[in-house]
Amino acid sequence: VLAGTALRRRFGAAVALDGVSLAVAPGETVAVMGPSGSGKSTLLHVLAGIVRPDEGEVRLFGQRIDNLGERRRSALRRTRFGFVFQHGQLLPELPADENVALPLMLDGTARGAAVAAARAWFGPLGLAGLERRRPGELSGGQAQRVAIARALVTRPAVVFADEPTGALDQRTGHDTMRLLVDAARGNGAALVVVTHDPGVARWCGRVVEVRDGRLAHLAGAP
Ligand code: ATP
Ligand code: MG
Repeated sequence: VLAGTALRRRFGAAVALDGVSLAVAPGETVAVMGPSGSGKSTLLHVLAGIVRPDEGEVRLFGQRIDNLGERRRSALRRTRFGFVFQHGQLLPELPADENVALPLMLDGTARGAAVAAARAWFGPLGLAGLERRRPGELSGGQAQRVAIARALVTRPAVVFADEPTGALDQRTGHDTMRLLVDAARGNGAALVVVTHDPGVARWCGRVVEVRDGRLAHLAGAP
């Protein structure tokens, strides 16, 4: 579904990506591990069309997306991709259900239908009854489950998650990550998730390790 080839990206003197190729199959779950500063976030950002590579190319369904203008890339991000970050992605002034509905509304779904579709995610993610809470009234784990719902509500082809449980305690982080992996799989979305938790990597179909801007190690299917 998504393929990055020979990706290079530098920031000033720092080489963040030094020739990385990574192809993600439809519905595949890939854990991205590696030390701090190795280029994991940059890899996600380049694959997701947030950051442009200096060299190499990114293809979504076989079509190049790295060379598109910002408007078209941001439209693709909205419709084809979902994102879960460590924190700070929910709008504090909106109730949880409207946070989840937002990507649908941005894409033209009427408010009522979008909120109804959003609420359908709350039960399966263990959030029943929390639909009208604002993010500040949710625990960290609950807020991340809302963020997972928001990432999946548009039924994206690929979900990108950058240390989505990094701000949670280990147990909650583990449970939340399990929900993310299962929810992505259950919806046929590919998942590219940065994690430092080797336990999480075990649930993913594949683990890649980034070191100094290169893929150092592959486990699981190629
Ligand atoms: P962490 O585990 O700490 O999140 P990471 O593996 O995600 O690290 P990146 O954020 O991809 O690492 O950073 C890779 C390198 O690129 C680092 O040297 C970083 O300082 C540099 N870098 C990343 N983004 C930028 C930016 N916007 N401006 C300047 N340098 C950047
Ligand atoms: Mg990072």
